[in-house]
Amino acid sequence: MTDTAALKRRVREAIDDNDEAILSLAASVHSEPELGYKETETTRKVAAEFRELGLDVETELAVTGARARAGSDGSSDEDAGAADEADDEFVFALLGELDALVNPGHPAADPETGACHACGHEAQLANLVGAAYGLVASGVVDDLPGAVEFIAVPAEEYLDLEYRRGLLDDGEIEFFGGKQELIRRGYFEDVDCAAMIHAASETPEREVTSDFSSNGFVGKTVQYDGRESHAGGAPEEGVNALNAAMAGMNAVNANRETFPDEEHVRVHPIVTKGGDGVNVVPADVRMESYVRAKSVDAIEDANETTNRALESGAMAVGSNVTIEDFPGYLPLRTDETLVAAFDANAREVIGEDAVHGEHQHVTGSTDMGDVSQIVPAVHPWTGGFEGAAHSTEFGAADEEMAYLLPAKVTASMVVDVLADPEKRAAIREAKAGKRSTESYLEIVREMRNTREGNYMDA
Ligand SMILES: [Zn+2]
Repeated sequence: MTDTAALKRRVREAIDDNDEAILSLAASVHSEPELGYKETETTRKVAAEFRELGLDVETELAVTGARARAGSDGSSDEDAGAADEADDEFVFALLGELDALVNPGHPAADPETGACHACGHEAQLANLVGAAYGLVASGVVDDLPGAVEFIAVPAEEYLDLEYRRGLLDDGEIEFFGGKQELIRRGYFEDVDCAAMIHAASETPEREVTSDFSSNGFVGKTVQYDGRESHAGGAPEEGVNALNAAMAGMNAVNANRETFPDEEHVRVHPIVTKGGDGVNVVPADVRMESYVRAKSVDAIEDANETTNRALESGAMAVGSNVTIEDFPGYLPLRTDETLVAAFDANAREVIGEDAVHGEHQHVTGSTDMGDVSQIVPAVHPWTGGFEGAAHSTEFGAADEEMAYLLPAKVTASMVVDVLADPEKRAAIREAKAGKRSTESYLEIVREMRNTREGNYMDA
C-alpha cells in the first residue's frame, strides 16, 4: 500500500519551503499583465520556474505557452498490471492560464494596453508552479505511478479579437481560445485528466467550489450594409442600416421566450458601430454577440434562431447583412472523481467547512469547457479574492488562500489520484465516454459559418 498521507505531507512541506518563490511569481505576473497570445514575459517567468525544478520545458506551444512533464517512468510494483505498457501511463495535466484582460481603470492596469489581472490568472500560475514545487521538489512524483504534465496555457479571455483574427489570417492559429488551439495541436492526446483552479469572484473567504457546469457559446460579428444619403434632405434615397440592426435586435428579443429554461440560453448583442455622422443615413452598422447555452445542441438551436432574427432586420429594411460565426467555448462538465478528490483535500488543507455548495450551473464560459469535452476535468473556484471578477476592485485579499493553499490542495489531489488504481480506473472509464479530439474539432469547426442576406435592391 502506498502511504498517501505521508506523500501528501511531503508535497505540502515542499510548497511551504518554496512559498517565497511562488508568491513572488504571483506578484511578478500580476505587475506585468499581458493579453492572450502575447504572454511572452509571463511564459518566460513560468518556464524559468519549471527549469528551476530541473524539468525539460517546451515553449511557444501556440504562439506562447509552456509545458513540462514530470515523473514519467510509470512503473511501480503494485501497479505492474495496469501500467506494464509504457504508452499506458496515466497522465494528469495541471493547467494555468497566462493571460490578462482589459480594464484600464484597474489599479494594476498596464498604462498603455489597459491589460490587468482582474480575473486572478496570476493565482492559476501560482497554483501551477506551486503544485510543481510540491510534487517535483519533494521527489513525490517519482514515487507515484504515472506522470504529471504542467501546462501554462495562452489566451483564455475571448477578446482582442482583431489581433487574433490577424493571427488566424496569418495561419498562426485556428482558434481564438488557447486551450482549443492546444487541443488541435495534440497537447491533450495522451492526457487522462486535467485540472486547474480559478479565482472566485467576491469571495475573500477560505472556500472552494468545484462541483459545477457552465455554458458554452458561439461568438459572432454582424455587419448591416445600407446606403448613405442625406439624413435630412433625402432619407428616401438611403437604406438605413441602423434601423435594420434595431429591427434585427428586436426580433432576437421576440424569440427569448422560446429558449428552454433548462438550457440557460444567453444572447447579448452589442452595437459596436452605429453610424458615421448624424446627418448621413447610416450605411455601415456593426454588432457583436455571443449565443450561450448549457448544451452544444441548445447553442446550435439558439444560434440558428438568433441568426434568422438578425437577418430579418435586413429583410425588413431592404439592406444587406453578413453574419460571421466563430467557434466560442464548449460547455464545462466536471468529473465526479476529480471533484471528490479535490474537495476531500480542500477539507484537509483549508478546513472542514472549506467546500462550498451543492452542484450548480453557471452561465459564463471558459475554454476549460473544451478540455472537459475530451478528458475528465475539474475547474474549482478558489477564494481569497475580493471585488467582482473583471472589475476595478478585483484583487487578492488573503495571499495564503489566493496563492498557496490551492496548490497544496491540487498537488494532494494528484497524489490521491495517481496512487489509487480505483480512481485512475474511474477516470479512464469517464474518459472513454468523452468526445474524441476529431469529433471535438468537427463540432467547433462547424460553428464557423458565414450567413449572408442580400435584400438591397432585391
Ligand atoms: Zn478568468
